[in-house]
Amino acid sequence: MTTVAAYAAPAAKAPLERTTIERRAVGEFDVLIDIKFAGICHSDIHQAREGWGKATFPMVPGHEIAGVVSEVGPGVTKYAVGDRVGVGCMVDSCRECDNCRAGLQQYCAEGPVWTYNAVGKDGEPTYGGYSEKIVVDENYVVRIPDGLSLDVAAPLLCAGITTYSPLKHFGVGPGKKVAVVGLGGLGHMGVKIAHAMGAEVTVLSQSLRKKDDGLRLGADHYRATSDPQTFEDLRGTFDVVLNTVSAPLDFAAYLSLLRTEGAMVNVGLPEEPVRIELSAIFGNRRVLTSSNIGGIPETQEMLDFCAEHGLGAEIELIGADRINEAYERVLNSDVRYRFVIDTATI
Ligand code: NAP
Ligand code: ZN
Ligand code: ZN
Repeated sequence: MTTVAAYAAPAAKAPLERTTIERRAVGEFDVLIDIKFAGICHSDIHQAREGWGKATFPMVPGHEIAGVVSEVGPGVTKYAVGDRVGVGCMVDSCRECDNCRAGLQQYCAEGPVWTYNAVGKDGEPTYGGYSEKIVVDENYVVRIPDGLSLDVAAPLLCAGITTYSPLKHFGVGPGKKVAVVGLGGLGHMGVKIAHAMGAEVTVLSQSLRKKDDGLRLGADHYRATSDPQTFEDLRGTFDVVLNTVSAPLDFAAYLSLLRTEGAMVNVGLPEEPVRIELSAIFGNRRVLTSSNIGGIPETQEMLDFCAEHGLGAEIELIGADRINEAYERVLNSDVRYRFVIDTATI
């Protein structure tokens, strides 16, 4: 066991504070990672504030982890000391169910072991990336390509894969029209990735405040959802609407923007249930669906794609003493476009 410094929420809704946690000894197939950067995902806030239901405390959030391997177990074959690696939302799964065998570990029949706010196979609570080091089985680690610096790569481990996976699954590419709803951490990566895939991209944001940024990130169009004319003008337009908003929306209004058989993919996970009338989908056989991060092979594929296209996240690098302030800013949609913690400051 190694004692490492971390930032933890001691209780639901309590501010995060510096503490120490124990990391398990490096096992046969484990790698020890010196964490360099950890992104702040809105999911960290939902969980630290128990917005999704009961959680485990103390909680060390963080599932956008980028670092360097500093030790490997004797059975490790994929990584060596000095390798630049990432860890996302999962650190283990059953490895035997159909989904695990298909590389869809995020849909493991037994439920994956989440990076934090979960219990590991050793029966101990898992602690996330707001810490100095983490020990992870090599099969749940991915390689960060040389072309990506670690700070802008960290958010790809959740925001990148969560947008890449459904965009790919729903056939986004040249000739397709995609709307990205919400220009936050996920949304800005959704814009970059959909643009790199060759699609025509429209941002649907609450206001035009971030229009210049949206166009610079790769959007072709930028419209405000506070303007009812937006919904009139864009009715029946999109092949895919990627909803990244952390709060409930008027689903019928966004579904009306889909062409026949278009798909609205909801990756945003509001804390309240949503309600829709089926009339919003039956007329045009529209698809209303959701998507949960991506599997380990697809996470590696996404990192390679981002490196090839020069896509890192737009980040605001902060010291650990600013985590609580960053949470408030994320809650106020005041993020451009991902807070990343320099873990040397923990
Ligand atoms: P974020 O950085 O806070 O971005 C969310 C964006 O949604 C905001 O920047 C804002 O964009 C818009 N928004 C916020 N409140 C709104 C409201 N009341 N009405 C309309 N628009 C609003 O959050 P994130 O880290 O990207 O995460 C977004 C959501 O995805 C969270 O619920 C998170 O838990 C979830 N998530 C899901 C997965 C998955 O696997 N499915 C993975 C990661 C995160 P504008 O200012 O442009 O309007
Ligand atoms: Zn996340
Ligand atoms: Zn499984």
